[in-house]
Amino acid sequence: MANQDLLGELVDIARSFATYGKVADYIPALRDQNPDDLAISIYSIENESYYAGDHLKKFTLQSISKVIALALVLMDNGEEEVFSRVGMEPTGDPFNSIAKLETHKPSKPLNPMINAGALAVTNMISGNSVVEKWDRLIEFICHLTGQKVTYNEDVAYSELQTANLNRSLCYFMKQHGVISGNVEDLLVLYTKQCAVEMNCMDLAKIGAVFANDGADPESGKQLITKDVARICKTFMVTCGMYNSSGEFAIKVGIPAKSGVSGGIMGSVPGKCGIGIFGPALDEVGNSIAGVKLLEGLSGKYSWSIF
Ligand code: GLU
Repeated sequence: MANQDLLGELVDIARSFATYGKVADYIPALRDQNPDDLAISIYSIENESYYAGDHLKKFTLQSISKVIALALVLMDNGEEEVFSRVGMEPTGDPFNSIAKLETHKPSKPLNPMINAGALAVTNMISGNSVVEKWDRLIEFICHLTGQKVTYNEDVAYSELQTANLNRSLCYFMKQHGVISGNVEDLLVLYTKQCAVEMNCMDLAKIGAVFANDGADPESGKQLITKDVARICKTFMVTCGMYNSSGEFAIKVGIPAKSGVSGGIMGSVPGKCGIGIFGPALDEVGNSIAGVKLLEGLSGKYSWSIF
């Protein structure tokens, strides 16, 4: 497995790349993050943990939450129902693009890792109200981390006030029968989901559950079915790193999902989960230092699945 000292060295090298990135500012509450932060945790399926940097600092999941919601919704509704509303194909478009919804027929989102697809997925969480749906989602996340996790109210509120692009995606999809129900309720749920807050160690633990075919490495309990864990890891490979997923697959080769907060969850099948936080982003929205760090790690330990 990893080596604690080497991890510290790799973090120091990768941190120097943060100066070439920029913290996300389209969600006002994310603007104040420190661009020089960089931390990592690794959680092996043998329950060993390694870390470097401020690995206990909390951050919001943003798009990383899309994989978790997908796992829950696939287990709730089954593949057939889910994939009747959202596709399986990667896109070269940015995560918040509306373009393909109109030009691609049928007009369902291309995949669950872009905003349109994620909104359609969150719309399928079971429950009779926003509260019930939220309770199910957060309970699931708490089981995955083994911790009492909650969300950052300021970040959720800040996004809700400014989420007009996501609003447009929802109204477009409602018109075309992809989503149902009240759009504002869906946005409340989605922004809370994106604002779920945790540290690198918690995130590494979730990555380890996926790496361990859906079973909690600690208790052995099957938290996600093996099939659903496989589907989620496949989406992480094909669409997890925005529109640079191809380059990431070549240079790193680890199933991973990033978010605009600067988090990255990695899952090395049969080995470990990885949680990274580095808020300075590259031009597509991935943590710039985080990607460098994963590149170094994957090369060092031959973790590419290819
Ligand atoms: N909450 C963000 C949004 O919907 C998530 C985007 C991301 O992390 O890619 O815009």
